Amino acid sequence: MGEQGKMKRFYQDYNTVKVYQVKQLLTDAGIQCVVKNELIQGAAGEIPLNEAMPEIWLVDEEWDSKANQLLANFEQAQQEMSATAEWICSECHTVNEGDFGICWNCQTPRE
Ligand SMILES: [Zn+2]
Repeated sequence: MGEQGKMKRFYQDYNTVKVYQVKQLLTDAGIQCVVKNELIQGAAGEIPLNEAMPEIWLVDEEWDSKANQLLANFEQAQQEMSATAEWICSECHTVNEGDFGICWNCQTPRE
């Protein structure tokens, strides 16, 4: 021990899907992290809610600022995405951004 940095709690959310999206985001960027307090069905009633919330911990707190930047970008992108709903091409079933007038894949106009 001793050689590794100190772990740091980075993120927590009741939305397990979002927790795993953030974990994937960090992992893709080469940031090592672990999920703690994964919600287990049936157990939530026995644990205080703030104890049961899934958490992401950075394996090394050195990554904190980089991880925060990634998270900020991620949340901004999520907001922009919900502002302009995606649509699915009727020809090739590709998902397109809301502000695309034609399919980026096959150029079929949006219906
Ligand atoms: Zn298409």
